[in-house]
Amino acid sequence: MRAEILSIGSELVSGQSLDTNSRWLSQQLGALGVPVAFHTTLGDELEDHLDAFRAAIARADLVVMTGGLGPTQDDLTREALAQCAGVPLVEDAASLEAIAAMFARRNRPMAERNRVQALFPQGAEALANPIGTAPGIWMAIGRALIAALPGVPSEMRRMFADEVVPRLRRLGLADRFIVHRKINLFGKGESEIEAQALDLTARGRVPEVGITAHEATISFRITGGGSTEAEALASTDSTAAMIRERFGPLVLGEGTVDVPEALAAQLARSGATLATAESCTGGLMASLLTAIPGISSSYLGGAVTYSNASKSELLGVPPGLIEAHGAVSAEVAAAMAEGARARLGATIAVSATGVAGPGGGTPEKPVGLVYLGLATPAGTETRRLEMGPERPREFIQIYSAKTALNWARLALLDA
Ligand code: AMP
Ligand code: MG
Repeated sequence: MRAEILSIGSELVSGQSLDTNSRWLSQQLGALGVPVAFHTTLGDELEDHLDAFRAAIARADLVVMTGGLGPTQDDLTREALAQCAGVPLVEDAASLEAIAAMFARRNRPMAERNRVQALFPQGAEALANPIGTAPGIWMAIGRALIAALPGVPSEMRRMFADEVVPRLRRLGLADRFIVHRKINLFGKGESEIEAQALDLTARGRVPEVGITAHEATISFRITGGGSTEAEALASTDSTAAMIRERFGPLVLGEGTVDVPEALAAQLARSGATLATAESCTGGLMASLLTAIPGISSSYLGGAVTYSNASKSELLGVPPGLIEAHGAVSAEVAAAMAEGARARLGATIAVSATGVAGPGGGTPEKPVGLVYLGLATPAGTETRRLEMGPERPREFIQIYSAKTALNWARLALLDA
């Protein structure tokens, strides 16, 4: 069993809009246990439809196509399907009624051209479209099953779920449930983490484990399968437990849990409050934290102190300290964190001061050098990060912000 997806529309092949339907459909079919072998994109030309349909029907068991079901001249899907099957187009009374009813509900007159949308290749079944005018088409040509859906993504998704999936399940063609589980880690590089997980990421392992990185967060992606959703999920449990066990405090959580979410959970759990003092990250830490609903009970606020004067005025960093060590120094990072903690009355505070680049680097203080500070009831510590001058400004900022927040999370783990 393998599938092919056809995306129809001149706006897609000309590059004016992106074919997002294929991606979504491939993910859905994959989750049903139906591998997708081909994606084909074609414009609104009848000859090209016939070529592409014939090729797809010859090599795939299931062909899911989107687009070209509208009422206009360039919507050729139904015509091409009829020609491919060698049958005439016939009007479906129920579909015509549904289309007329849709126009009536929207208080708009139905154009004569919309009648075209009630035409189906003889022998085809209509796929109901509850949110648009174009019904879909379900038919067999040769040994291939065909589902033709509207191009509008919201209609396509709804109809795939409500009309196509139940048919595939009924035919016994989609008997698998596939689940993807993502476990997120922070604090070590991708290669270092993978070196400790070669047994998990080995090809052919069941369940399959992949590793990806996004803004220095490393994710293990576990793909499990089963004949029910619960069985598929259960097949990933021991692998997930192994990852948690092996990587311990590096593990942030699952799914969408990244550093800020994991820190928020630790703050809530421990009852501690947090303040931030930011120079080179320019408020990124505050922004990441305040994106989390409900964080107001533990995040008190912070200061963006970009100039030397603002570090002194808002955080009480002694001007002499900045003069003696420079704004980018362990001493100033410590004073910033202490200042934020004291002035906001927080349990802990984190700070960042560094050279985000691309200019402003010196041999002693190159681009990518950042000092972090962490002030807690137990005292103040600093860390020196060296990301390298070739790193883009955005990376230096996000990496610094996440490393600082992660440090606060780790401090609270033992609290
Ligand atoms: P159609 O069903 O061909 O009339 O397409 C209607 C609209 O759906 C198009 O104007 C596009 O905006 C959108 N659309 C069509 N095909 C795709 C696709 N493969 N991916 C994303 N959007 C699409
Ligand atoms: Mg179109």
